[in-house]
Amino acid sequence: MKNASSEVSAESARPSPDGPEAADAAREWRNFTRAQELGRIGWWRLDTTRDILTWSDENYRIFGVPMGLPQSYGSFLETVHPDDRAMVDARWTAALRGEPYDIAHRIIANGAVKWVREKAVLEFDEKGELLGGFGVAQDITEQKQVEQALQWSVRRNELLTRTAARLLEARDAQQIIEELCAEVMDFLDCDVFFNFVTDDETNRLRLNACAGIPENAAREIEWLDYGVAICGCVASARERIVAADITRSADARTALIRGFGIEAYCCHPLMSQGKLLGTLSFGSRSRPTFRDEEVDVMQAVSNLVAMAMTRLKMELALREADQRKDEFLATLAHELRNPLAPIRSGLHILKAQSDSKAARVQAMMARQVDHIVRLVDDLMEIARIRNGKIVLRMERVDLVEVIRQAVESGGPFLAANGVELSVVTPDQPVHVEGDPVRLAQIVSNLLNNAGKYTEPGGRVEIALAIADGRAMLSVTDTGVGIPKDMLPHVFDLFAQVDRSLGRAQGGLGIGLALVRKLAALHGGDVAAHSDGQGKGSCFTLWLPLALAFDADSHEAGKPAASVAHRVLVIDDNPDVALSMSMLLETMGVDVQIAVDGPAGVAAAVEFRPMLVLLDLGMPGMDGFETAQRLRATPEGAAATLVALTGWGGEETRARTKAAGFDLHLTKPASVDDLRRALAITRN
Ligand code: ADP
Repeated sequence: MKNASSEVSAESARPSPDGPEAADAAREWRNFTRAQELGRIGWWRLDTTRDILTWSDENYRIFGVPMGLPQSYGSFLETVHPDDRAMVDARWTAALRGEPYDIAHRIIANGAVKWVREKAVLEFDEKGELLGGFGVAQDITEQKQVEQALQWSVRRNELLTRTAARLLEARDAQQIIEELCAEVMDFLDCDVFFNFVTDDETNRLRLNACAGIPENAAREIEWLDYGVAICGCVASARERIVAADITRSADARTALIRGFGIEAYCCHPLMSQGKLLGTLSFGSRSRPTFRDEEVDVMQAVSNLVAMAMTRLKMELALREADQRKDEFLATLAHELRNPLAPIRSGLHILKAQSDSKAARVQAMMARQVDHIVRLVDDLMEIARIRNGKIVLRMERVDLVEVIRQAVESGGPFLAANGVELSVVTPDQPVHVEGDPVRLAQIVSNLLNNAGKYTEPGGRVEIALAIADGRAMLSVTDTGVGIPKDMLPHVFDLFAQVDRSLGRAQGGLGIGLALVRKLAALHGGDVAAHSDGQGKGSCFTLWLPLALAFDADSHEAGKPAASVAHRVLVIDDNPDVALSMSMLLETMGVDVQIAVDGPAGVAAAVEFRPMLVLLDLGMPGMDGFETAQRLRATPEGAAATLVALTGWGGEETRARTKAAGFDLHLTKPASVDDLRRALAITRN
């Protein structure tokens, strides 16, 4: 950018007052000066050979230097902001080598930071020797301020949008507040933040999150009284406090933060629907005050945090209420099971002794009890579904066999309802990887529903096939059908199409929710289809097929013949113990009863049982302790130990397993359960 200009005659900033066109020139000069003033553009010329820098009047004004004070390159560099000085020097040095000189940088003028934009060209004499440079400096402080304010507001909007989004998703108030406030601190150039929350129990404020002070100092201010320090005062008055120049302040409220070296501080109350949730404050050690727009950002962040805290509190309350309901249902089911146990056993005993009329009554009662047991079982499952506590015991299972068993147990119910059942299964086994108990539960639920929702004279078909490389099991009925709008909801928990329908057979709307959950746990799918009310329904279950492998190596152990002759029943409920012992006697077993743990241990030593049926929930010495004591005796160590309890959850099962029980049965134990217990009894 060599400049051809060579008319560098005088170093003066003003033209000569004499000359033929003096008046014109003077007018031109005035216009030129006004243009500089209006545009805030000054000019300069640097004679590099003598290091003399000439400035126009406007340049003196821009740089805040007394008019006429002699200037040099060095004195100019002095006015440049220290952080920009090296850059400016490097660019000028490069410009002297021919690089363009067009830069914006800061200067310190009269103690204030200003922005200038400079442009220059080089000047040469007639011989082409470098004389120096001529340039202009424009005061762009205002543009820069507008630009910076704009950038700041864009960043602020981004920050607030991000903050809102993250708070909306937040699960853990403390963690999110720590992360967010770190970001806000960064944006506002703050060094500390404090978040206190109200504590209703102590009627004080508790430090929930903070940053920028040592950990031990944070521990010291873990609790704060209302009315103490700035945060305590904000909490009391529920109004924000903005404090400036704190190190020079004598205000007693600022003593605490002054101790942390904080200069500027702003604390907002966290409010929700007129209720105080806590406070949120930010502080800076390096600045004496916060700008209004910075305080506005803190206010906006505080509002967002208050909203998020309210939402989290409400969610927690909802979850707790939901959990209490689940716990209540589980307890209810558990309590209902206890009286059912002796009733069920009693009915079984009566069966053997009844005349034909009584036998019919007994059969009816047995069916009703079975129904109640099913309802109670469903109830028990809710808590497990909700807590995700269903764990599968996977093995290779033949679905043909699962269907056979489900039909065996559910068929009589359909027959009693006057519903005809047909079964279509392949001749070959259809193996899947699954929990046989849970798979049977799926099929029984579907079959049972088909029976419940089909009028007498109707038909139900259960079919199994392999389609698209998956096992496809369907239960189709000619029953009441399902309206289109209900189809997507029948698998939801507690969903029922018509609550007034068939209450005698009624359920709780849990069965299908359980079916869907179990199908999913098996990597499968279930779907409902119906052409509408009165048009029957079809439920289809798809399960992945098991990989082919040598079946012989995986043959499920068939129950051995009963080998137990002596069985000890330990239960604090005399009705349960008695009915169980009578039931066992009908199976040809020699039974003894003990009503608590210590009596049980003593009886075991005397009676040397092969099998001990042990209730877990007994007052005093509970089932676990009794088991431990039993195992400590040679007689108890030799016996098979079976836990008998209303609690069938995975946790209890894991505990009984760990305590050395051989089997875990839930009350009321069925005849099949007892057969299973007898079958595993040691010789
Ligand atoms: P419920 O205990 O009410 O039977 P389920 O979860 O098993 O609960 O079923 C939910 C609802 O789906 C039932 O209340 C019923 O309205 C509908 N339903 C289930 N199976 C059938 C079927 N085979 N035919 C018609 N409606 C059915």
